[in-house]
Amino acid sequence: MPRPTAASSALFERARSVTPGGVNSPVRAFNAVGGTPRFIRSAAGAWLTDVDGNEYVDLICSWGPMLLGHAHPEVQAQVAAAVARGTSYGAPTEPEVELAEEIVARAPVEKVRFVSSGTEATMSAIRLARGFTGRDVVVKFAGCYHGHVDALLASAGSGLATFAVPGTPGVPASSTELTLVLPYNDRAAVEKVFAEYPDRIACLITEASPGNMGVVPPEAGFNAFLAETCRAHGALFVSDEVMTGFRVSRQGQWGLDGAVEGWRPDLVTFGKVMGGGFPAAAFGGRADVMARLAPEGPVYQAGTLSGNPIATTAGLATLRLATDEVYAHIGAAAETVKSAASDALRQAGVAHVVQATGTMFSVFFTASGRVRDFDDALTTDASAYAAFFHAMLDAGVYLPPSAYEAWFLSSAHDDRAVQTVLDALPAAARAAAA
Ligand code: PLP
Repeated sequence: MPRPTAASSALFERARSVTPGGVNSPVRAFNAVGGTPRFIRSAAGAWLTDVDGNEYVDLICSWGPMLLGHAHPEVQAQVAAAVARGTSYGAPTEPEVELAEEIVARAPVEKVRFVSSGTEATMSAIRLARGFTGRDVVVKFAGCYHGHVDALLASAGSGLATFAVPGTPGVPASSTELTLVLPYNDRAAVEKVFAEYPDRIACLITEASPGNMGVVPPEAGFNAFLAETCRAHGALFVSDEVMTGFRVSRQGQWGLDGAVEGWRPDLVTFGKVMGGGFPAAAFGGRADVMARLAPEGPVYQAGTLSGNPIATTAGLATLRLATDEVYAHIGAAAETVKSAASDALRQAGVAHVVQATGTMFSVFFTASGRVRDFDDALTTDASAYAAFFHAMLDAGVYLPPSAYEAWFLSSAHDDRAVQTVLDALPAAARAAAA
């Protein structure tokens, strides 16, 4: 049954008259699935409540950050206490030091610098890589999203090993002419560009396990290969863990491959979970590389709200509560949802493939059998997904409003929330088949 949307529709109307497209980040407009974007009034645990009073099990979790669910009482209490002490000083604070220590203890970085968004983190990381190496070329993979950094909003040029073209109007060709875009999971393409530009590549940046074209995990040993290839050519390996960091495991994606295989990235970017729902992000890495950053070194980088005391308090509280039990709970709930989604789609005769890394997964509506790069991801049947999405929404489950996004759960996804998802799946799968 379609749910009432009069209040969301009215707000959307007002929003469109004062904000481009009515939203502050494009995917929220529901353009890919159609219909009225739900304006959210409040959230608690695994549940969202919209302005019409509809409740939804949240399978987006703010696009990843809400690892503990919404309005976790302990996080709320620490944030409230921090707010009472003032909200921003523009001077160093204790929570920044503690959060940096917590990140250094978990992730393969010796030092970190805080910023306010994942975009700033990747932008600053490539600046630092260029400043450290004295080189200018950046290599990335098609389908990997690193925020809206000009140099990284790039599409592949006319052939492998040719420089990229702007991925959006507004990015000048001069911003992408030092970016090379390669197919993901393609070792030969990586070897080719390093051979062709032997002393020019400052860094290769990759999502540690891509989640922005749907979940497309690195093939076995791929990240190790990237780290080794960069090292052999004097380039830095930048692992973007904005989405995966402290989400797919306690140590992020690196905990699933690098820590096991015995390699480390040179720089890592973080965001989402480490801000506990507030704008906080970071980049970090080898001490000798980070030492090139101002004020210790010459590479400039700064931010008025960087290391903000409320954001770092929320992030610290979240990470301290993110125990092994939390990851085990999310993993088990994700497993249940994943296999139920697959069963329902199979029974309805909908071609699909479910892919996961750690506790993060996505469902591709494709007959291609396996998705290993962006071209494979584009075989997704976006209209089947749109039908599935709306059937789930009508049944009280809030999925990402795009076929190319990861699904996220939290430690607050209890039996009632998971059961609501399971109950919704069979009819949604039939809607996708129609
Ligand atoms: N890097 C990755 C892997 C991301 O998933 C995102 C956002 O989704 C970003 C960077 C950009 O982060 P932000 O949206 O905080 O700027």
